[in-house]
This record gives sequence, structure tokens and C-alpha cells, in this order.
Amino acid sequence: MSVRRGTRALISGSSWLFGGQSFPRSHMMLQKVQPVCVVKRNMAEFSPSISESNLTSAIFQPAVVIFDKDGTLVCFHTMWNSWCEELAGRMTAETSKDLSNDVYELMGYDYETKKIGMGMLAEKTHPYIKEKVVEMLVKQGFHEWEAKQVLDKTWKDTPENMQIKMTGNLRNLFSRLREKNIKIAICTSDSREGTLEFLERLHLEEFVDIVVCGDDKISKSKPDPHNAIYICNELNVDLSDAIMVGDTPADTIMGQAANLGLTIGVLTGVGTHQDLTHADLIVNSVSEVVDLVTNEDTEDFHAVTVTARGLCKIAARSSLQPLRTTEVKI
Ligand SMILES: [Mg+2]
Repeated sequence: MSVRRGTRALISGSSWLFGGQSFPRSHMMLQKVQPVCVVKRNMAEFSPSISESNLTSAIFQPAVVIFDKDGTLVCFHTMWNSWCEELAGRMTAETSKDLSNDVYELMGYDYETKKIGMGMLAEKTHPYIKEKVVEMLVKQGFHEWEAKQVLDKTWKDTPENMQIKMTGNLRNLFSRLREKNIKIAICTSDSREGTLEFLERLHLEEFVDIVVCGDDKISKSKPDPHNAIYICNELNVDLSDAIMVGDTPADTIMGQAANLGLTIGVLTGVGTHQDLTHADLIVNSVSEVVDLVTNEDTEDFHAVTVTARGLCKIAARSSLQPLRTTEVKI
């Protein structure tokens, strides 16, 4: 049994994926948020009655995958480090006051390590961040009108020379999803200007069905479930047939709040395992997400972390679909 197939079968509710052990639901509900790592198994390990039965595939194939952008599709640090430093430089020049540390602290940027942590820039929309920049300037002694003037003169939605480092071969990944008739959505806190530039530069526009950005009028800041529900409505897709993929709690909480079929955390951005416990599954990257949902016969197997929340979802589905030996599905 492969890890990859095993994970999909887990999603379809087959309890034997945990080495044939039975997990009472009460036990799962009491479990602390301890990641469970799915192990690689071989069909030959299972009893002849199972391995020789007429097994068929039962795959959870989504109708749409909703991707966060920064930290999920592109390297967050590569793109936004220079933006933080450029903004701090412009504000310092405009006010003749060194505001670098205040800007870095507000954005969650560590100048020494050149890393952006969980916080404002990773999780909030530009309109929200701009409000907080004004508040920061007022605390520094500027009048509110002066603060707004400084913001207007120094703010730019995108870095001057935007560096884009992909977290995987996005054209390949998106085309594989499209081949399976799986729609692709992007739900980002970034501006529409920056998001469209990203899609254009990477030649991804043709694959993406809908984009919702942080400064769109219809947008509500994550983790409000509104944007995920809006995307599903616009694409005429049931919430239970949608997957949310993101690198921060804002993404994973949104996925759960919208009651989507599955919420997956990725480790390519600012979130760690500890940050992503609201996800059902945690994987390394979007490449692994696509491997999971496209059900292609590949030898690229991946270890997947199932959170306690994910385990409860699996158990709930299992209880709705009693497993009989003759109906075992992988
Ligand atoms: Mg992100």
C-alpha cells in the first residue's frame, strides 16, 4: 500500500490504513493535536482475503482546489523581503526619521535572518495593513493627516523588482489538475495588481478559473469563510467538493469555517506543523497536494501528516460508510 494511495483511501474513510487498527471515535475526539504520520504499506502485508478481493478505487476528487498564493504557490520570503526593506527606506526618506525597525516589527519581518514570520504581512490584506501603518505613524508623533500623506507617498502594492520563486512547477501542476477537470481558484490577501502580475509573468492565467484578492470589493479578510464560499458559488461547486490549500492559520481556519471538503496545510510558507493544526492534512508542498488529488500512477510517494481534526473527519465519514470486507476500497 503506497502512502499516496493510502492517504486517498483515508479520505474515503477506510480505517485499515492505520495498520488495520480500529480507532473508536471517542478516542479520536480526545486526542490532542498530535500529527499522525501515514506509513508506507504494501498490499502483500494484508490478509489474502483483502488482497485477493476485487478492490476498486474510491478517490476523493475535488471539483475545485482553492490555493492561497504567497507561501503556498510562491516563496513568501523571496517576494516580500525586498518589499519590506523598500517600504521602510521610502518612509524613512519621506519623514527624515528612521522608521525601519517600526516597519519591520509591524510586518513581522526579521531583518537579520531575512525571514517573515507569522503576522501582519503573512495573513492580512493590504487595506488592513495600510490602516495599521497609519496607526504606527500616529504613535510615532505624526498627525493623522500627515500619516495618511506619508502612506500615500510611500506605499506600493508590489515590490519594485518583484522576485518570484515558485514552490513547484506550477504550469505542470495546474495542467494536471485541469486534465482531471478540477477547477483552480486563487484566494489571496495580496492585491489584485500583484496577483495578476504573478499570473502573467508565470503564464498561468489560462489555468485559473477565479481569483479573489485582498483588495477586491467583494473580499473579506481571511479567515472569514466568505471568500471560499463566494468562490464555490461562482464556480457552481458544492463546498464539500472543494479543497483549501494554504500555509497559514488564516487559510486553514477559513477552509474549516467554510466547511469545505478538505483543508490542507503546506510547509513551504511561514506556517509550521504547530501553526497548521486547523488543517485536516499537512504536506510539504503543492506538488504533493496535486499528487494526492489527481490519483496518477507515480512512484513519488509522500508522507502525509493527518491532524487530530483530520482524523475526526475521517472517522465521521467512516461511520457514515460502514466498511464490509467485500466492499473494501482503496
Ligand atoms: Mg500564505
